[in-house]
Amino acid sequence: MDIGFIGLGEMGAAMVENILKAGHQVRVWNRSPERAQRLAQAGAQVVGSVAEAFTGDAVFSMLADDAAVREVINARLLEQAPRGQIHVNMATISVALAEELASEHAQRGLNYVAAPVMGRPDVAAAAKLTIVAAGPAEAIDRVQPVFDAVGQKTWRIGSLAQQANVMKLATNFLIASAVETLGEASAMLAGHGVAMQDFLDVITSNLFQGVVYQGYGKMIAEQRYEPALFKAKLGMKDVRLALAAAESVMTPLPMASVVRDSLIEAMAHGDGEKDFAVLGQVAARRAGRR
Ligand code: NAP
Repeated sequence: MDIGFIGLGEMGAAMVENILKAGHQVRVWNRSPERAQRLAQAGAQVVGSVAEAFTGDAVFSMLADDAAVREVINARLLEQAPRGQIHVNMATISVALAEELASEHAQRGLNYVAAPVMGRPDVAAAAKLTIVAAGPAEAIDRVQPVFDAVGQKTWRIGSLAQQANVMKLATNFLIASAVETLGEASAMLAGHGVAMQDFLDVITSNLFQGVVYQGYGKMIAEQRYEPALFKAKLGMKDVRLALAAAESVMTPLPMASVVRDSLIEAMAHGDGEKDFAVLGQVAARRAGRR
């Protein structure tokens, strides 16, 4: 395929490398041009404007958050985009913005697909992302070869783009809850002289198998929060988005409110750049242990 790709951060750059390896042509644009230049060596065509990237068979974007998406994917860009163009937004954004974008694209005869991903930059580099896609089925069919180049599986969620975003936010809400409770459990265990690692060996062998308990649990056990694999400040963004999505349908998420306060506490102590696992340190501090 001949595609454009907008947003070459940790995730976007890794994805573009794999799309190029799969033999597709990619026009890339990034706010900071140095990141785009690095991909030129891997075979990408660097373009000087978002509009030039917004052409071809489809355009993919992997921008940081709602504010970045609003800044880059504006009305002027959509007005000049070729009719029938497919835009696949793979970032974690709010449900409200996804709904708005789907409508803005449809009004101009453009296809909007939401395809947020599960997996960190190392998973993206290994082309093993899990993709949750929603939007017009025919458009998803057309971009499936690109999904196959970056992910291990694409799950189709529905025809309304925002349904993929709410699924991504619900997933991150579960991860956030797990990290919060791992931190709290760790503080309680320490008070009774039980090693966190012993606890993890037991729970991850049967009841709580899986990468979330193993990965974040290990970091909490080792009190190792740097380098960050997923920054606390990004976790904060996702918890806020989950709370907003829930409030829009009058659904209380009490646990998300707890995690939000814990993350605010982490940030108040200057730990926003540390890994999400730093919630273990928050819990220990509350228990007077650090
Ligand atoms: P990142 O490394 O911080 O990259 C963010 C990208 O957004 C960069 O290309 C950045 O451009 C661009 N950007 C930010 N603000 C902008 C603005 N105002 N105007 C134009 N461009 C702007 O983030 P990432 O880790 O790649 O994450 C990208 C998305 O994937 C996020 O929605 C994140 O939640 C989601 N995600 C991340 C992970 C993860 O583990 N990292 C996992 C799953 C999903 P510059 O290079 O110019 O700053």
